[in-house]
Amino acid sequence: MNVLKVMNITINETDEECVVIRLKDYNDFMFANYAEFQKLHSRTVQLKKREEKQDDVESRRIEHIKRQELREQEHEERRKKYIEMQIIQNKYNNERLRKEKEEVAETHKEILDSNPEAKIQMCRFCKKYRINPIHFVDTDGKKYLKSYNKDNQYLKAACCVTCYDEVLYKKEERRMEHTYFCNTCQSTIIAFGEDTIIKHNSSIKHKKNENKQNYDKQKTTINLELLSLKELQSICSKSSTEEGTYLISNYTKTKKQDLIKKMYDVYDKLVFDFY
Ligand SMILES: [Zn+2]
Ligand SMILES: [Zn+2]
Repeated sequence: MNVLKVMNITINETDEECVVIRLKDYNDFMFANYAEFQKLHSRTVQLKKREEKQDDVESRRIEHIKRQELREQEHEERRKKYIEMQIIQNKYNNERLRKEKEEVAETHKEILDSNPEAKIQMCRFCKKYRINPIHFVDTDGKKYLKSYNKDNQYLKAACCVTCYDEVLYKKEERRMEHTYFCNTCQSTIIAFGEDTIIKHNSSIKHKKNENKQNYDKQKTTINLELLSLKELQSICSKSSTEEGTYLISNYTKTKKQDLIKKMYDVYDKLVFDFY
Protein backbone atom coordinates (compact mmCIF):
# COMPACT_ATOMS: atom_id res chain seq x y z
CA MET A 1 0.00 0.00 0.00
CA ASN A 2 1.44 3.31 -1.01
CA VAL A 3 1.13 6.36 1.13
CA LEU A 4 0.72 9.23 -1.23
CA LYS A 5 0.93 12.02 1.25
CA VAL A 6 1.15 12.83 4.97
CA MET A 7 -0.86 15.86 6.06
CA ASN A 8 -2.32 17.63 9.10
CA ILE A 9 -6.07 18.18 9.05
CA THR A 10 -8.34 19.68 11.69
CA ILE A 11 -11.31 17.41 12.27
CA ASN A 12 -13.89 18.41 14.91
CA GLU A 13 -11.47 21.04 16.22
CA THR A 14 -8.73 18.44 16.70
CA ASP A 15 -5.53 18.40 14.72
CA GLU A 16 -5.05 14.98 13.19
CA GLU A 17 -1.98 13.72 11.42
CA CYS A 18 -3.29 11.72 8.46
CA VAL A 19 -2.02 9.80 5.48
CA VAL A 20 -3.56 9.81 2.05
CA ILE A 21 -3.92 6.43 0.35
CA ARG A 22 -5.81 5.29 -2.70
CA LEU A 23 -9.44 4.31 -2.09
CA LYS A 24 -8.83 1.04 -3.98
CA ASP A 25 -5.91 0.26 -1.66
CA TYR A 26 -8.09 1.04 1.34
CA ASN A 27 -10.91 -1.18 0.07
CA ASP A 28 -8.51 -4.02 -0.68
CA PHE A 29 -7.00 -3.75 2.77
CA MET A 30 -10.38 -3.59 4.52
CA PHE A 31 -11.78 -6.53 2.56
CA ALA A 32 -8.71 -8.70 3.23
CA ASN A 33 -8.91 -8.04 6.96
CA TYR A 34 -12.69 -8.10 7.27
CA ALA A 35 -12.86 -11.61 8.64
CA GLU A 36 -10.22 -10.77 11.24
CA PHE A 37 -12.12 -7.69 12.24
CA GLN A 38 -15.31 -9.67 12.58
CA LYS A 39 -13.64 -12.22 14.84
CA LEU A 40 -12.07 -9.53 16.95
CA HIS A 41 -15.34 -7.69 17.19
CA SER A 42 -17.43 -10.69 18.22
CA ARG A 43 -14.81 -11.70 20.81
CA THR A 44 -14.96 -8.24 22.27
CA VAL A 45 -18.75 -8.37 22.37
CA GLN A 46 -18.72 -11.78 24.03
CA LEU A 47 -16.24 -10.71 26.61
CA LYS A 48 -18.27 -7.66 27.39
CA LYS A 49 -21.44 -9.71 27.72
CA ARG A 50 -19.77 -12.19 30.04
CA GLU A 51 -18.51 -9.40 32.22
CA GLU A 52 -21.96 -7.87 32.32
CA LYS A 53 -23.48 -11.22 33.18
CA GLN A 54 -21.02 -11.77 35.99
CA ASP A 55 -21.74 -8.32 37.28
CA ASP A 56 -25.44 -9.11 37.16
CA VAL A 57 -25.07 -12.39 39.04
CA GLU A 58 -22.92 -10.76 41.61
CA SER A 59 -25.27 -7.85 42.11
CA ARG A 60 -28.20 -10.21 42.43
CA ARG A 61 -26.34 -12.26 45.01
CA ILE A 62 -25.56 -9.12 47.00
CA GLU A 63 -29.15 -7.98 46.68
CA HIS A 64 -30.37 -11.33 47.94
CA ILE A 65 -28.06 -11.26 50.95
CA LYS A 66 -29.18 -7.71 51.72
CA ARG A 67 -32.84 -8.69 51.51
CA GLN A 68 -32.27 -11.69 53.73
CA GLU A 69 -30.48 -9.58 56.28
CA LEU A 70 -33.33 -7.13 56.24
CA ARG A 71 -35.86 -9.89 56.73
CA GLU A 72 -33.93 -11.33 59.63
CA GLN A 73 -33.68 -7.91 61.15
CA GLU A 74 -37.40 -7.34 60.81
CA HIS A 75 -38.13 -10.75 62.23
CA GLU A 76 -35.89 -10.08 65.20
CA GLU A 77 -37.56 -6.72 65.77
CA ARG A 78 -40.99 -8.29 65.67
CA ARG A 79 -39.89 -10.98 68.10
CA LYS A 80 -38.54 -8.38 70.48
CA LYS A 81 -41.73 -6.36 70.24
CA TYR A 82 -43.81 -9.46 70.87
CA ILE A 83 -41.81 -10.29 73.98
CA GLU A 84 -42.16 -6.72 75.18
CA MET A 85 -45.90 -6.92 74.63
CA GLN A 86 -46.06 -10.20 76.48
CA ILE A 87 -44.24 -8.75 79.44
CA ILE A 88 -46.61 -5.78 79.53
CA GLN A 89 -49.61 -8.04 79.17
CA ASN A 90 -48.42 -10.41 81.88
CA LYS A 91 -47.81 -7.50 84.18
CA TYR A 92 -51.27 -6.18 83.44
CA ASN A 93 -52.88 -9.60 83.92
CA ASN A 94 -51.05 -10.26 87.15
CA GLU A 95 -52.10 -6.87 88.43
CA ARG A 96 -55.71 -7.53 87.38
CA LEU A 97 -55.73 -10.96 89.03
CA ARG A 98 -54.20 -9.57 92.18
CA LYS A 99 -56.93 -6.91 92.33
CA GLU A 100 -59.65 -9.46 91.66
CA LYS A 101 -58.33 -11.72 94.38
CA GLU A 102 -58.24 -8.80 96.77
CA GLU A 103 -61.81 -7.87 95.91
CA VAL A 104 -63.02 -11.43 96.46
CA ALA A 105 -61.17 -11.60 99.75
CA GLU A 106 -62.78 -8.31 100.75
CA THR A 107 -66.30 -9.36 99.71
CA HIS A 108 -66.12 -12.72 101.47
CA LYS A 109 -64.05 -11.59 104.42
CA GLU A 110 -66.51 -12.96 106.95
CA ILE A 111 -66.51 -16.45 105.48
CA LEU A 112 -62.76 -16.53 105.15
CA ASP A 113 -62.31 -15.30 108.72
CA SER A 114 -64.85 -17.67 110.24
CA ASN A 115 -63.97 -20.79 108.27
CA PRO A 116 -60.31 -21.75 108.44
CA GLU A 117 -60.79 -24.24 105.60
CA ALA A 118 -62.22 -21.68 103.22
CA LYS A 119 -59.81 -20.42 100.63
CA ILE A 120 -59.80 -18.42 97.44
CA GLN A 121 -59.64 -20.58 94.37
CA MET A 122 -59.87 -19.82 90.69
CA CYS A 123 -62.53 -21.62 88.65
CA ARG A 124 -60.81 -23.29 85.73
CA PHE A 125 -63.74 -22.57 83.42
CA CYS A 126 -64.61 -18.91 84.00
CA LYS A 127 -61.15 -17.99 85.37
CA LYS A 128 -62.76 -16.06 88.20
CA TYR A 129 -61.76 -16.17 91.83
CA ARG A 130 -64.33 -17.88 94.03
CA ILE A 131 -64.40 -19.22 97.56
CA ASN A 132 -63.87 -22.90 98.15
CA PRO A 133 -65.98 -24.64 99.42
CA ILE A 134 -69.07 -22.38 99.24
CA HIS A 135 -68.82 -21.71 95.49
CA PHE A 136 -67.63 -25.17 94.51
CA VAL A 137 -69.70 -27.54 96.64
CA ASP A 138 -73.49 -27.76 96.93
CA THR A 139 -75.41 -27.99 100.22
CA ASP A 140 -75.16 -31.79 100.13
CA GLY A 141 -71.40 -31.54 100.00
CA LYS A 142 -71.27 -32.60 96.33
CA LYS A 143 -68.79 -30.90 94.04
CA TYR A 144 -70.15 -28.94 91.10
CA LEU A 145 -68.91 -30.61 87.92
CA LYS A 146 -68.85 -29.44 84.36
CA SER A 147 -68.00 -31.53 81.34
CA TYR A 148 -65.56 -30.34 78.74
CA ASN A 149 -64.00 -31.66 75.58
CA LYS A 150 -60.35 -32.52 75.39
CA ASP A 151 -58.86 -34.42 72.44
CA ASN A 152 -62.39 -35.45 71.45
CA GLN A 153 -63.03 -36.91 74.86
CA TYR A 154 -65.67 -35.74 77.27
CA LEU A 155 -64.19 -35.17 80.69
CA LYS A 156 -65.58 -33.67 83.86
CA ALA A 157 -63.93 -31.24 86.20
CA ALA A 158 -64.87 -29.18 89.24
CA CYS A 159 -66.41 -25.83 88.42
CA CYS A 160 -67.93 -22.95 90.32
CA VAL A 161 -71.64 -22.59 91.02
CA THR A 162 -71.99 -19.85 88.39
CA CYS A 163 -70.61 -22.07 85.66
CA TYR A 164 -72.76 -24.95 86.90
CA ASP A 165 -75.92 -22.83 86.82
CA GLU A 166 -75.02 -21.56 83.39
CA VAL A 167 -74.93 -25.12 82.07
CA LEU A 168 -78.27 -25.90 83.70
CA TYR A 169 -79.75 -22.72 82.28
CA LYS A 170 -78.38 -23.54 78.82
CA LYS A 171 -79.71 -27.08 79.07
CA GLU A 172 -83.15 -25.76 79.99
CA GLU A 173 -82.94 -23.17 77.23
CA ARG A 174 -81.91 -25.86 74.75
CA ARG A 175 -84.71 -28.10 75.93
CA MET A 176 -87.19 -25.26 75.44
CA GLU A 177 -85.78 -24.50 72.01
CA HIS A 178 -86.29 -28.09 70.96
CA THR A 179 -89.72 -28.57 72.40
CA TYR A 180 -92.39 -29.09 69.79
CA PHE A 181 -96.10 -29.44 70.12
CA CYS A 182 -97.69 -32.13 67.98
CA ASN A 183 -101.13 -30.97 67.02
CA THR A 184 -102.16 -34.44 65.97
CA CYS A 185 -101.30 -36.02 69.30
CA GLN A 186 -101.95 -32.88 71.35
CA SER A 187 -98.71 -33.59 73.16
CA THR A 188 -95.27 -32.11 73.63
CA ILE A 189 -92.13 -33.68 72.17
CA ILE A 190 -88.53 -32.80 72.95
CA ALA A 191 -86.50 -33.39 69.82
CA PHE A 192 -82.84 -32.43 69.45
CA GLY A 193 -82.75 -33.60 65.90
CA GLU A 194 -84.94 -34.15 62.90
CA ASP A 195 -84.71 -37.91 63.60
CA THR A 196 -86.74 -37.67 66.77
CA ILE A 197 -89.56 -35.87 64.94
CA ILE A 198 -89.53 -38.41 62.12
CA LYS A 199 -89.53 -41.19 64.69
CA HIS A 200 -92.46 -39.58 66.48
CA ASN A 201 -94.38 -39.08 63.27
CA SER A 202 -94.03 -42.77 62.46
CA SER A 203 -94.83 -43.92 66.00
CA ILE A 204 -97.95 -45.98 66.64
CA LYS A 205 -99.32 -43.29 68.92
CA HIS A 206 -98.99 -40.57 66.32
CA LYS A 207 -100.34 -42.75 63.52
CA LYS A 208 -103.33 -43.71 65.62
CA ASN A 209 -104.08 -40.06 66.31
CA GLU A 210 -103.54 -39.20 62.68
CA ASN A 211 -105.99 -41.90 61.60
CA LYS A 212 -108.47 -40.72 64.15
CA GLN A 213 -108.17 -37.16 62.89
CA ASN A 214 -108.57 -38.21 59.27
CA TYR A 215 -111.49 -40.33 60.24
CA ASP A 216 -113.09 -37.41 62.13
CA LYS A 217 -112.58 -35.28 59.06
CA GLN A 218 -114.14 -37.88 56.81
CA LYS A 219 -117.03 -38.42 59.15
CA THR A 220 -118.28 -34.90 58.76
CA THR A 221 -118.21 -35.18 55.00
CA ILE A 222 -119.89 -38.54 54.59
CA ASN A 223 -123.09 -38.21 52.74
CA LEU A 224 -125.28 -41.08 53.92
CA GLU A 225 -127.60 -40.78 50.94
CA LEU A 226 -124.80 -41.88 48.66
CA LEU A 227 -124.26 -45.14 50.50
CA SER A 228 -125.98 -48.38 49.67
CA LEU A 229 -128.37 -49.94 52.13
CA LYS A 230 -125.84 -52.67 52.79
CA GLU A 231 -123.18 -50.13 53.64
CA LEU A 232 -125.55 -48.23 55.94
CA GLN A 233 -126.40 -51.45 57.71
CA SER A 234 -122.75 -52.27 58.09
CA ILE A 235 -122.16 -48.92 59.80
CA CYS A 236 -125.12 -49.53 62.08
CA SER A 237 -123.84 -52.98 62.99
CA LYS A 238 -120.75 -51.42 64.56
CA SER A 239 -122.60 -48.71 66.39
CA SER A 240 -123.46 -49.40 69.99
CA THR A 241 -124.21 -47.55 73.16
CA GLU A 242 -122.13 -47.69 76.32
CA GLU A 243 -124.31 -50.50 77.57
CA GLY A 244 -123.49 -52.46 74.45
CA THR A 245 -126.90 -52.23 72.79
CA TYR A 246 -127.18 -51.07 69.19
CA LEU A 247 -128.12 -47.42 68.76
CA ILE A 248 -130.46 -48.08 65.92
CA SER A 249 -132.84 -50.90 66.66
CA ASN A 250 -134.15 -53.07 63.87
CA TYR A 251 -131.76 -51.43 61.39
CA THR A 252 -131.82 -54.54 59.24
CA LYS A 253 -135.55 -54.23 58.78
CA THR A 254 -135.83 -50.44 58.38
CA LYS A 255 -136.32 -48.93 54.92
CA LYS A 256 -133.37 -47.03 53.50
CA GLN A 257 -134.89 -43.53 53.78
CA ASP A 258 -136.04 -44.14 57.37
CA LEU A 259 -132.71 -45.65 58.30
CA ILE A 260 -130.84 -42.62 56.93
CA LYS A 261 -133.08 -40.34 58.98
CA LYS A 262 -132.45 -42.37 62.11
CA MET A 263 -128.73 -42.45 61.40
CA TYR A 264 -128.48 -38.68 61.03
CA ASP A 265 -130.11 -38.36 64.47
CA VAL A 266 -127.23 -40.27 66.11
CA TYR A 267 -124.60 -39.32 63.51
CA ASP A 268 -121.85 -38.48 66.06
CA LYS A 269 -122.08 -41.93 67.59
CA LEU A 270 -121.78 -43.91 64.36
CA VAL A 271 -118.61 -45.84 63.68
CA PHE A 272 -117.33 -45.35 60.11
CA ASP A 273 -114.16 -47.34 60.36
CA PHE A 274 -114.93 -49.64 57.45
CA TYR A 275 -113.83 -46.77 55.21
ZN1 LIG B 1 -66.72 -20.76 86.95
ZN1 LIG C 1 -97.84 -36.73 67.09
